[in-house]
Amino acid sequence: MKLIYAILLGFLAMPCALADGLPDLGDVSQTVLTPLQEQRIGEEIMRDVYASNDVVKDVEITDYIQALGYRLAANSSDNRQHFEFFVVQDNTINAFALPGGVVGVHTGLILATDNESELASVLGHEIGHVVQHHMSRMAAQQSNDMVTSLASLALALLVSAANPQLASGALAASSASGVQKQLNYTREHEQEADRVGLQILSSAGFDVRAMPAFFETLQKGTRFVEGTAPSFLRTHPLTSERIADVKGRVEQMPYHQVADSQEFQYVRAKLLATLGTPRQAVELFQGNLNDKKYTNEAAQHFGLAQALLRDRKPDGATKQLAWLRASAPSHAMVEMLAANIEAARGDAAKAANQFRAGLAKYPDHRGLIYGYAELLLAHNRTDEALKLLSEKLPLYPDDAYLYELQSRAYTIQGKDMLGHQAQGEAYFRRYDLPKAVEQMELATKIGDGDFYQLSIVEARLKQLNQLLAEAKKIEKNK
Ligand SMILES: [Zn+2]
Repeated sequence: MKLIYAILLGFLAMPCALADGLPDLGDVSQTVLTPLQEQRIGEEIMRDVYASNDVVKDVEITDYIQALGYRLAANSSDNRQHFEFFVVQDNTINAFALPGGVVGVHTGLILATDNESELASVLGHEIGHVVQHHMSRMAAQQSNDMVTSLASLALALLVSAANPQLASGALAASSASGVQKQLNYTREHEQEADRVGLQILSSAGFDVRAMPAFFETLQKGTRFVEGTAPSFLRTHPLTSERIADVKGRVEQMPYHQVADSQEFQYVRAKLLATLGTPRQAVELFQGNLNDKKYTNEAAQHFGLAQALLRDRKPDGATKQLAWLRASAPSHAMVEMLAANIEAARGDAAKAANQFRAGLAKYPDHRGLIYGYAELLLAHNRTDEALKLLSEKLPLYPDDAYLYELQSRAYTIQGKDMLGHQAQGEAYFRRYDLPKAVEQMELATKIGDGDFYQLSIVEARLKQLNQLLAEAKKIEKNK
């Protein structure tokens, strides 16, 4: 967070070109942060995101949001903007855009949407804030308070209001509420984000009518579970005028009905299955199935299986799996479910077979890759784990967790140099340069690798030290 602070203080000291109002729609030339500065802030934020316990780690859920986010972002006007999407474990309805193209989505938002186009419309709106650089335009008009607030913003958003005791000293409750107060976008920003968002929604092939529909639902406040007030409305003020504006635009646009992807349905069901007690989750899906209260029957069986797994009833989950195998199209998330059922039964051999079968069909499904590697490591089958990881790393060269799994395997094998090297690569991918350097230094000192391996580690250490020195220089100059 220190770097964000430094950069923001730095730009506030510069003459401000925005004193008398916002630029018109589309004019983003007068933003106060350079793209590089924004990207650095984004990386700092992502470092906190990776370290946060409030961020959803379930890779099937995060991969879904990322795929949806990238699909939408690819349809925005600015295809050079970098984006990162992640999911916050928080059942309030919210999504937020931070500098550097970092977009967070609350689990509560995914649960509150009726269809995928509604979820896409909120993401499209957030992408609109990013490509119009509202955050940095807003910061330029604010006092130092805003800078303080923005600096602590990422953590404030991640450390949910429900757990203030988790907040660090620097993030007292007062600064978190200060952030909330000052982060209200202006009406102009909201309209810009709506317009850009609608265009993105349309180009990406979603139903544009979903945007005004979901806004109206938010405004009426009718679709919410108790205690999940739409905090989205606080940061993105929603007026009748704004809804009317969106509605007017939608009427001018071509639209078509769009079917939800099966991922959307399964991800929603998986999140629903985590709510309440395991028993309550089971009853929810059983009730829906009994009353035929659903738009997607497969998602109900899928959710019921997940809830039964939570309730430690793998046999019940197997029955739901049988239904899915017989009556729903083949899907990677169903293969993952099948493997998890075997693992829950404690049958490692069957679980391993199921992971292999799943990967044969869906070789790039990250849930299956992670799950299989974790299973192999739990049973000390490190050679197989390392073989799997070296096969899959080229598919995901930026995946920190794959490196972390590799590090664990090497450490079990007593290959400490390779273990530290892989752990260093994991930290590097989580934007934590100091820890990456630390691990790489340890790797050079262990002395259990051959000359060839050591020279690779030394070259990498040199490179990381250079990057660290550059980052420190930026921080010092501000
Ligand atoms: Zn907004």
